[in-house]
Amino acid sequence: MNTRDTNGKVWLIGAGPGDVELLTLKAVRALGEADVVLIDDLVNRAVLRFANSNVRVIEVGKRGGCRSTPQAFIERKMMQLAREGLTVARVKGGDPYVFGRGGEEVETLSRAGITVEVVNGITAGIGVPAALGIPVTHREFCRGVTFVTGNTRSGEQPNWRALADGGTTLVVYMGLANLAGIVSGLRAAGMPETMPAAVVENGTLPTQRSVVGTLGQVVNTVLAAGLRSPALVVVGEVVRFATAKKRDELQELSRKSA
Ligand code: SAH
Repeated sequence: MNTRDTNGKVWLIGAGPGDVELLTLKAVRALGEADVVLIDDLVNRAVLRFANSNVRVIEVGKRGGCRSTPQAFIERKMMQLAREGLTVARVKGGDPYVFGRGGEEVETLSRAGITVEVVNGITAGIGVPAALGIPVTHREFCRGVTFVTGNTRSGEQPNWRALADGGTTLVVYMGLANLAGIVSGLRAAGMPETMPAAVVENGTLPTQRSVVGTLGQVVNTVLAAGLRSPALVVVGEVVRFATAKKRDELQELSRKSA
């Protein structure tokens, strides 16, 4: 088929970290234009209320270790639907370009002559810490923020020294399964065990759970709390802001129950 005959289009939409109110206006508009929605399993199903009532929804979960739809199948499906002239909304958690394979998908679709437009979303690395009151940067405490993946299935080790010495807040995506390895890498590179650290599950959602403490405690407290994926690991002085907020909440609770 001559790709210039194609009138279909793919919107690559970031749905933000979970709370549906963190969707952008552009995401809402694109969802409303879609004939077909391909939805990742990290995405809050509540976003579908912005799609047409007759929209076709295809579940394309790809969570590590769980039931998954191969990336190549998803890409082929998007191409096929767009070539039928349909408007496709591919909805991903957070931002499509942050650990979301957005770059690969745009490349594949563009090469196939399909019009693709990316709609940014609030990435978990910013939205989830904020849900605990943690600003990822604060000029009194850090010089920036570093986003890394904790998924070391390839066996590659990150440059722990650079991460430990960078003077930036460290935000680790997909870091729960390898939390002990991350902590020992940072400790071996000289990061003190007193460094504040937090792990947040289902950040920004009503099911949010978190553990806030220090690098030295975090592995045990996360185990004890039984935190599950999706979870984000945040390490750095700015995590103190969460502790303060939690302390306030605890005081508030004890005042109420008194
Ligand atoms: N593109 C997404 C990231 C996909 S990788 C984004 O920009 O946010 C998936 C990882 O993101 C999860 O393993 C987890 O580390 C993190 N994550 C996504 N949503 C989250 C949430 N609501 N709470 C905690 N972590 C989350």
